[in-house]
Amino acid sequence: MTHSPSLLTSGDFNVSDANELYQVDRWSSGWFRVSGSGKMEVTPGQGLSAPLRDIIDELVEERGESLPLILRFPQVLAGRVQHLNEAFRAAIREYDYQGSYQGVFPIKVNQRRAVVETVAAAGYDYAHGLEAGSKAELALCLAQKMHPDALLSCNGFKDDGFIKLALWGRTLGKNVVITIEKFSELDRTLKQAKALGVRPAFGVRFKLHARGSGQWEESGGDQAKFGLNAYELLRVVERLREEDMLDTLVLLHTHIGSQITDIRRVKVAVREATQTYAGLIAAGAQLKYLNLGGGLAVDYDGSKTTFYASMNYTLAEYAADVVYTAQEVCRAREVPEPTIVTESGRAVTAHHAVLVMPVVDVTGPTRDREDAPEPAEDSHQVVTDLKEFLDNLTLRNYREMYNDAVDAKNTLHNLFDLGYVSLEDRARGEALFHAILKKVAKLVRGEKYVPDEFEDLQSILADQYICNFSLFQSLPDNWAIDALFPIVPVDRLNQRPTRQATLVDITCDSDGKIEKFIDLRDVKTTLPVHEPGDQPYYLGVFLAGAYQDVLGNAHNLFGKVSEAHVTVTGAGEYNIDLFVRGQKARRMIESMGYEEVMLRDSIEDQVDEALRAGHLTPVQEFELLEDYGEELLGYTYLEYEDGADVIEGAEERLRGNTVRVSEDIPPAPDDLATEAATAGADKTAQAGERDYLVR
Ligand SMILES: *Cc1c(COP(=O)(O)O)cnc(C)c1O
Repeated sequence: MTHSPSLLTSGDFNVSDANELYQVDRWSSGWFRVSGSGKMEVTPGQGLSAPLRDIIDELVEERGESLPLILRFPQVLAGRVQHLNEAFRAAIREYDYQGSYQGVFPIKVNQRRAVVETVAAAGYDYAHGLEAGSKAELALCLAQKMHPDALLSCNGFKDDGFIKLALWGRTLGKNVVITIEKFSELDRTLKQAKALGVRPAFGVRFKLHARGSGQWEESGGDQAKFGLNAYELLRVVERLREEDMLDTLVLLHTHIGSQITDIRRVKVAVREATQTYAGLIAAGAQLKYLNLGGGLAVDYDGSKTTFYASMNYTLAEYAADVVYTAQEVCRAREVPEPTIVTESGRAVTAHHAVLVMPVVDVTGPTRDREDAPEPAEDSHQVVTDLKEFLDNLTLRNYREMYNDAVDAKNTLHNLFDLGYVSLEDRARGEALFHAILKKVAKLVRGEKYVPDEFEDLQSILADQYICNFSLFQSLPDNWAIDALFPIVPVDRLNQRPTRQATLVDITCDSDGKIEKFIDLRDVKTTLPVHEPGDQPYYLGVFLAGAYQDVLGNAHNLFGKVSEAHVTVTGAGEYNIDLFVRGQKARRMIESMGYEEVMLRDSIEDQVDEALRAGHLTPVQEFELLEDYGEELLGYTYLEYEDGADVIEGAEERLRGNTVRVSEDIPPAPDDLATEAATAGADKTAQAGERDYLVR
C-alpha cells in the first residue's frame, strides 16, 4: 500500500505533516505553501501571501458569488515567464553562448484573455513572443501588443487565408514567421507573398527522429503529423534559392511533444536539431533562430522522476542543457550560435490557476452505519457466517478469512436474487462484509509486505466526496489521459484528515470521478480528507492552468466556471481585480442551437394550457414562469442558497475595494440582433443578461 500509515493514525498532526502528506513543497515550486494556521496560501513573491480560503469566503459569503470557480494569479503567470527567461539568460552567461534566447508562448495551451495578455505583458522586455496554430489564434495574436523583435510564430496547417493574414502581420511591423509544416505550403506562401507585395520570413519544421517520452511520444519521429523530412528540407532550400529568396528562411523548428519527463530526451533532440541547423547553414541558408518547441514539463506529483506526471530535471537544468548542447554542436560544426527559441506553454501556465470545488455531499460503504450489526434470530446462515468471520479475524488468518468473506458476500447476493435472503439480511450481510474489510485494512496497514489483492481495499472502503464541478469541463485531461493534479483541502491543514475519499463530479456520467491522486511512488487511489462538518469544505485542484481551460467540454451542459483574478499586495493582503461570471444556463442551451425566446414561448403555451385545464392557479403560473426565467439566467452548477450567509461587517471591509465584474461571454453581434428583434419579450431577462457591462 502506498499510504503513509503514520499520518493516518491517531496522535498529533501539524502543518508540516500536512505539507508532507499532500507533498505541497514538492510540486508547488514555491508558488503555494501551507500556512502556520493550516491554510493553503498563494505566495507569488517575497513578502506576498494570501490564504485561498479568505479569497473564496469573500467571493462566496460577502459577494454572493457561486462555486465552483477558478482562482487566477497573474503574478504567478508573470513570474513563470520571468523565471523561464532568466533561466536561459543565466545559462547563456554561464557558457558564454554567443546567441540569445527568445521564448514564444503557444497560445493553444490557454487562449483566455487574462492569460495571453498577462504573458505578453510579462514577456515584453524579454521579447517573448506568441505562437499561433490556426487562423483564429493568429487573428488573436496580431491584436496583441508585442516587442518589435518578439516572434509571432505561425505553426499548423495553413490555407491562403492564414498565409495572407500572416503576411499582413509583417507589414504591421510584427516579426511574423511562417513555419512550413508541409512542402506545398512553401509555393502557396510564395504566391501569396508576390500577390500582396510582402516579403515573407520562413521557418521550416523538421521531423526529428528523436522522440519525446510518455504520453506525447508520437509527436516526434518519422510518423509525426507535422514537419518535413531531410530530403524535403533540402528541397525548400533549393526552391528558395531558385527564387533568390534564401535569406527569407530564418528559422528551423522542431517539437518532440509535451511533458518530456526525461532530460536525456531533451538533450538528444537538441543535438539532432542543432546538427540539422548546421546542415542547413552548410547548404547556404542563413538561419537566425533555432526553435526547439515545447515539452518543458511540470512536476505534477513532485516526485522528480521520469513518471508521466513528473520530470527528472529543473527549469535551470533544462535551460543549461539546451544551451550547452546547442553550443557544443555549433562549435564542432563551426557555425554561428543561433538565437534559441522554445515554445513552453505547459510550464508557463500550469501554476497560475487553481480550481476550487466545494464538497456538497458524502457517501460511502461504511458511513452512517452501525459498525457490525448482530444477526437476527431468524437471519440466514450466510449472515451468521459473516459475523463469525469478523469475530475470528486475526493477522494470521486474514487472507483466508478475507477470501471466505468475499465468497459469502457473493452467496448473499445470489440468494437475494432468488428470494431466499430478505432485504434486512442483505443489509446486515453487507454491513458485516464491510466491517471485515475495515478490520483487514487495519491489520495490514502496519505490514511491510501486503499481497496485491489487498491493495484495492482502501479504495473499496473509501468515501465518495461529491464535488460541485464537472470533470469534463474543468479537468478534461484527468478523464482523457489520466493526467494527475495535486488536490489539497484549502484549509484545516492543522487538523488530521481522518477519511480517505475518491471524488465524484455532478455530471450524470459514471466516468465523472477522480480515483487517482499524486504520490511519490506511482499513484494513490484515495485522497486523505477531513470530515466536512458544518462549515463549507473546499478542495483546491492545483497546477490546473495549462490546457484544461481550453479542452473542457459542455457535457450535461455544465458551462465554463466563474473566475477571479487576484493580485497579492502584502502579507495576507490581496485584491480581487476582476471577477468573470461563469456561463449561464441560457448560453449553454443556445450553444446547442436553441433560442431563448423559443424556450420561453413553449413554456408559456404549456402554462396557458395548464391554467385552462385547472392544473395551475394564476399565482402558481406567475411563480413557475419566474422560476423558469431565473434558471435560464442562472449558473449551471449546484447553488445552495442556504450556504451563502453574509458575514457581519462585510460591508465595511468591501468599501474602497473595487471589483470589476464581467460576464464570461458577452453576446455576439448576431445574438444582440436576435435580442433586439425580440426586444420587449422579457425586459427583466435582458437586464439580467447585461450585467457584464458592470465593469
Ligand atoms: C503544443 C505545442 C507546444 C506547447 O508544448 P508544451 O509542452 O505545453 O510547452 C509547443 N510547440 C508546438 C509546436 C506545439 O504543438
